[in-house]
Amino acid sequence: METIATFGASGHDAAALQLFEQADQARVAALLRDCPVVRVAAGAAVADEHEDARLYVVLRGMLEVTPAEARPGTDRTASRVLPGECVGELAVLDGEAMSDHVLALQESELLVIDGPTLWRLVDESNGVARNLLRLLSFRIRAANAQLRRRQKLGEFYRQLSMVDGLTGLQNRAWLNAHLPLLLEQAQAAGEPLSLVMIDIDHFKHFNDEYGHLVGDTALQTAARAIAAALRPSDFAARFGGEELIVILPGTGQKGAALVAQRLCEQIRQAVVFTDMHKPLPHITASFGLATLGAGQTVDALVALADAALYRAKQAGRNRVAV
Ligand code: GH3
Ligand code: MG
Ligand code: MG
Repeated sequence: METIATFGASGHDAAALQLFEQADQARVAALLRDCPVVRVAAGAAVADEHEDARLYVVLRGMLEVTPAEARPGTDRTASRVLPGECVGELAVLDGEAMSDHVLALQESELLVIDGPTLWRLVDESNGVARNLLRLLSFRIRAANAQLRRRQKLGEFYRQLSMVDGLTGLQNRAWLNAHLPLLLEQAQAAGEPLSLVMIDIDHFKHFNDEYGHLVGDTALQTAARAIAAALRPSDFAARFGGEELIVILPGTGQKGAALVAQRLCEQIRQAVVFTDMHKPLPHITASFGLATLGAGQTVDALVALADAALYRAKQAGRNRVAV
């Protein structure tokens, strides 16, 4: 960064710069006269984090501002500063060092205004103060919009991290986070809640016979059949491997037995297709049902459903046990 002139000798007109539009040009010119104009090579960093805060006004060229936490050149939220625009005003106003990365995208000429000079401009020109306020409100709106975008993105990824990639059902992480809450809610409201543990029958054999990829398709088919047969207030998750779990809030043992029978029938009827639309043998699954008892813990309830599932397997599979 090399000083090439003072602003007074540079031939630039302050009225063409956003910050000084419609301000008292004589006063502005007097205060800016001795401010340095610097030249920055393309690709060079503009602000040094150790220097006192300064305002940079682009006279020629183009800058790029990247948020402090991002790496320059990789962040899509980077913004460009064009001739007439400025950067660094926030740092000058709050006296903190500028945290954003500022980079010259092209060889650029910048007017450098230090803190005391900017404050004198504000003190002596209502026009400059007004322009600065307008600029700050614009910056706040832009920052808020960016924050909302990030929050949305964060929520999107949070949801995504709770979904099983193969089946599209909720995953184990979701289950670990939500089952205790659902139990708590049911207990607090004195409402019933049932669990159905589901395990596909002879799935190892199915994989051996048709291959793991067809096995994956069968698992997806089973998951789809289950999800389609549930009410919006029910939940289905992949417990692990070829084991799925269904949570039925507000449903007691009788109602849950009907649901489990319906799910068993749906899986029995579900047809697994390959890409060639060649129908494969149907799959079946076994179902273990447990209904929440007073004061019961998550682990105890899951163990009950697991034990019931074991009984369904013992009794010949392709059925529901309580
Ligand atoms: P059972 O009727 O007693 O449940 O017999 P099973 O063969 O289903 O039981 P086991 O637990 O012995 O085998 C489960 C099989 O499920 C073994 C494993 O390879 C398969 N499996 C688990 N996860 C997946 C998966 O994501 N895709 C595929 N294709 N197979 C899976
Ligand atoms: Mg299993
Ligand atoms: Mg199995």
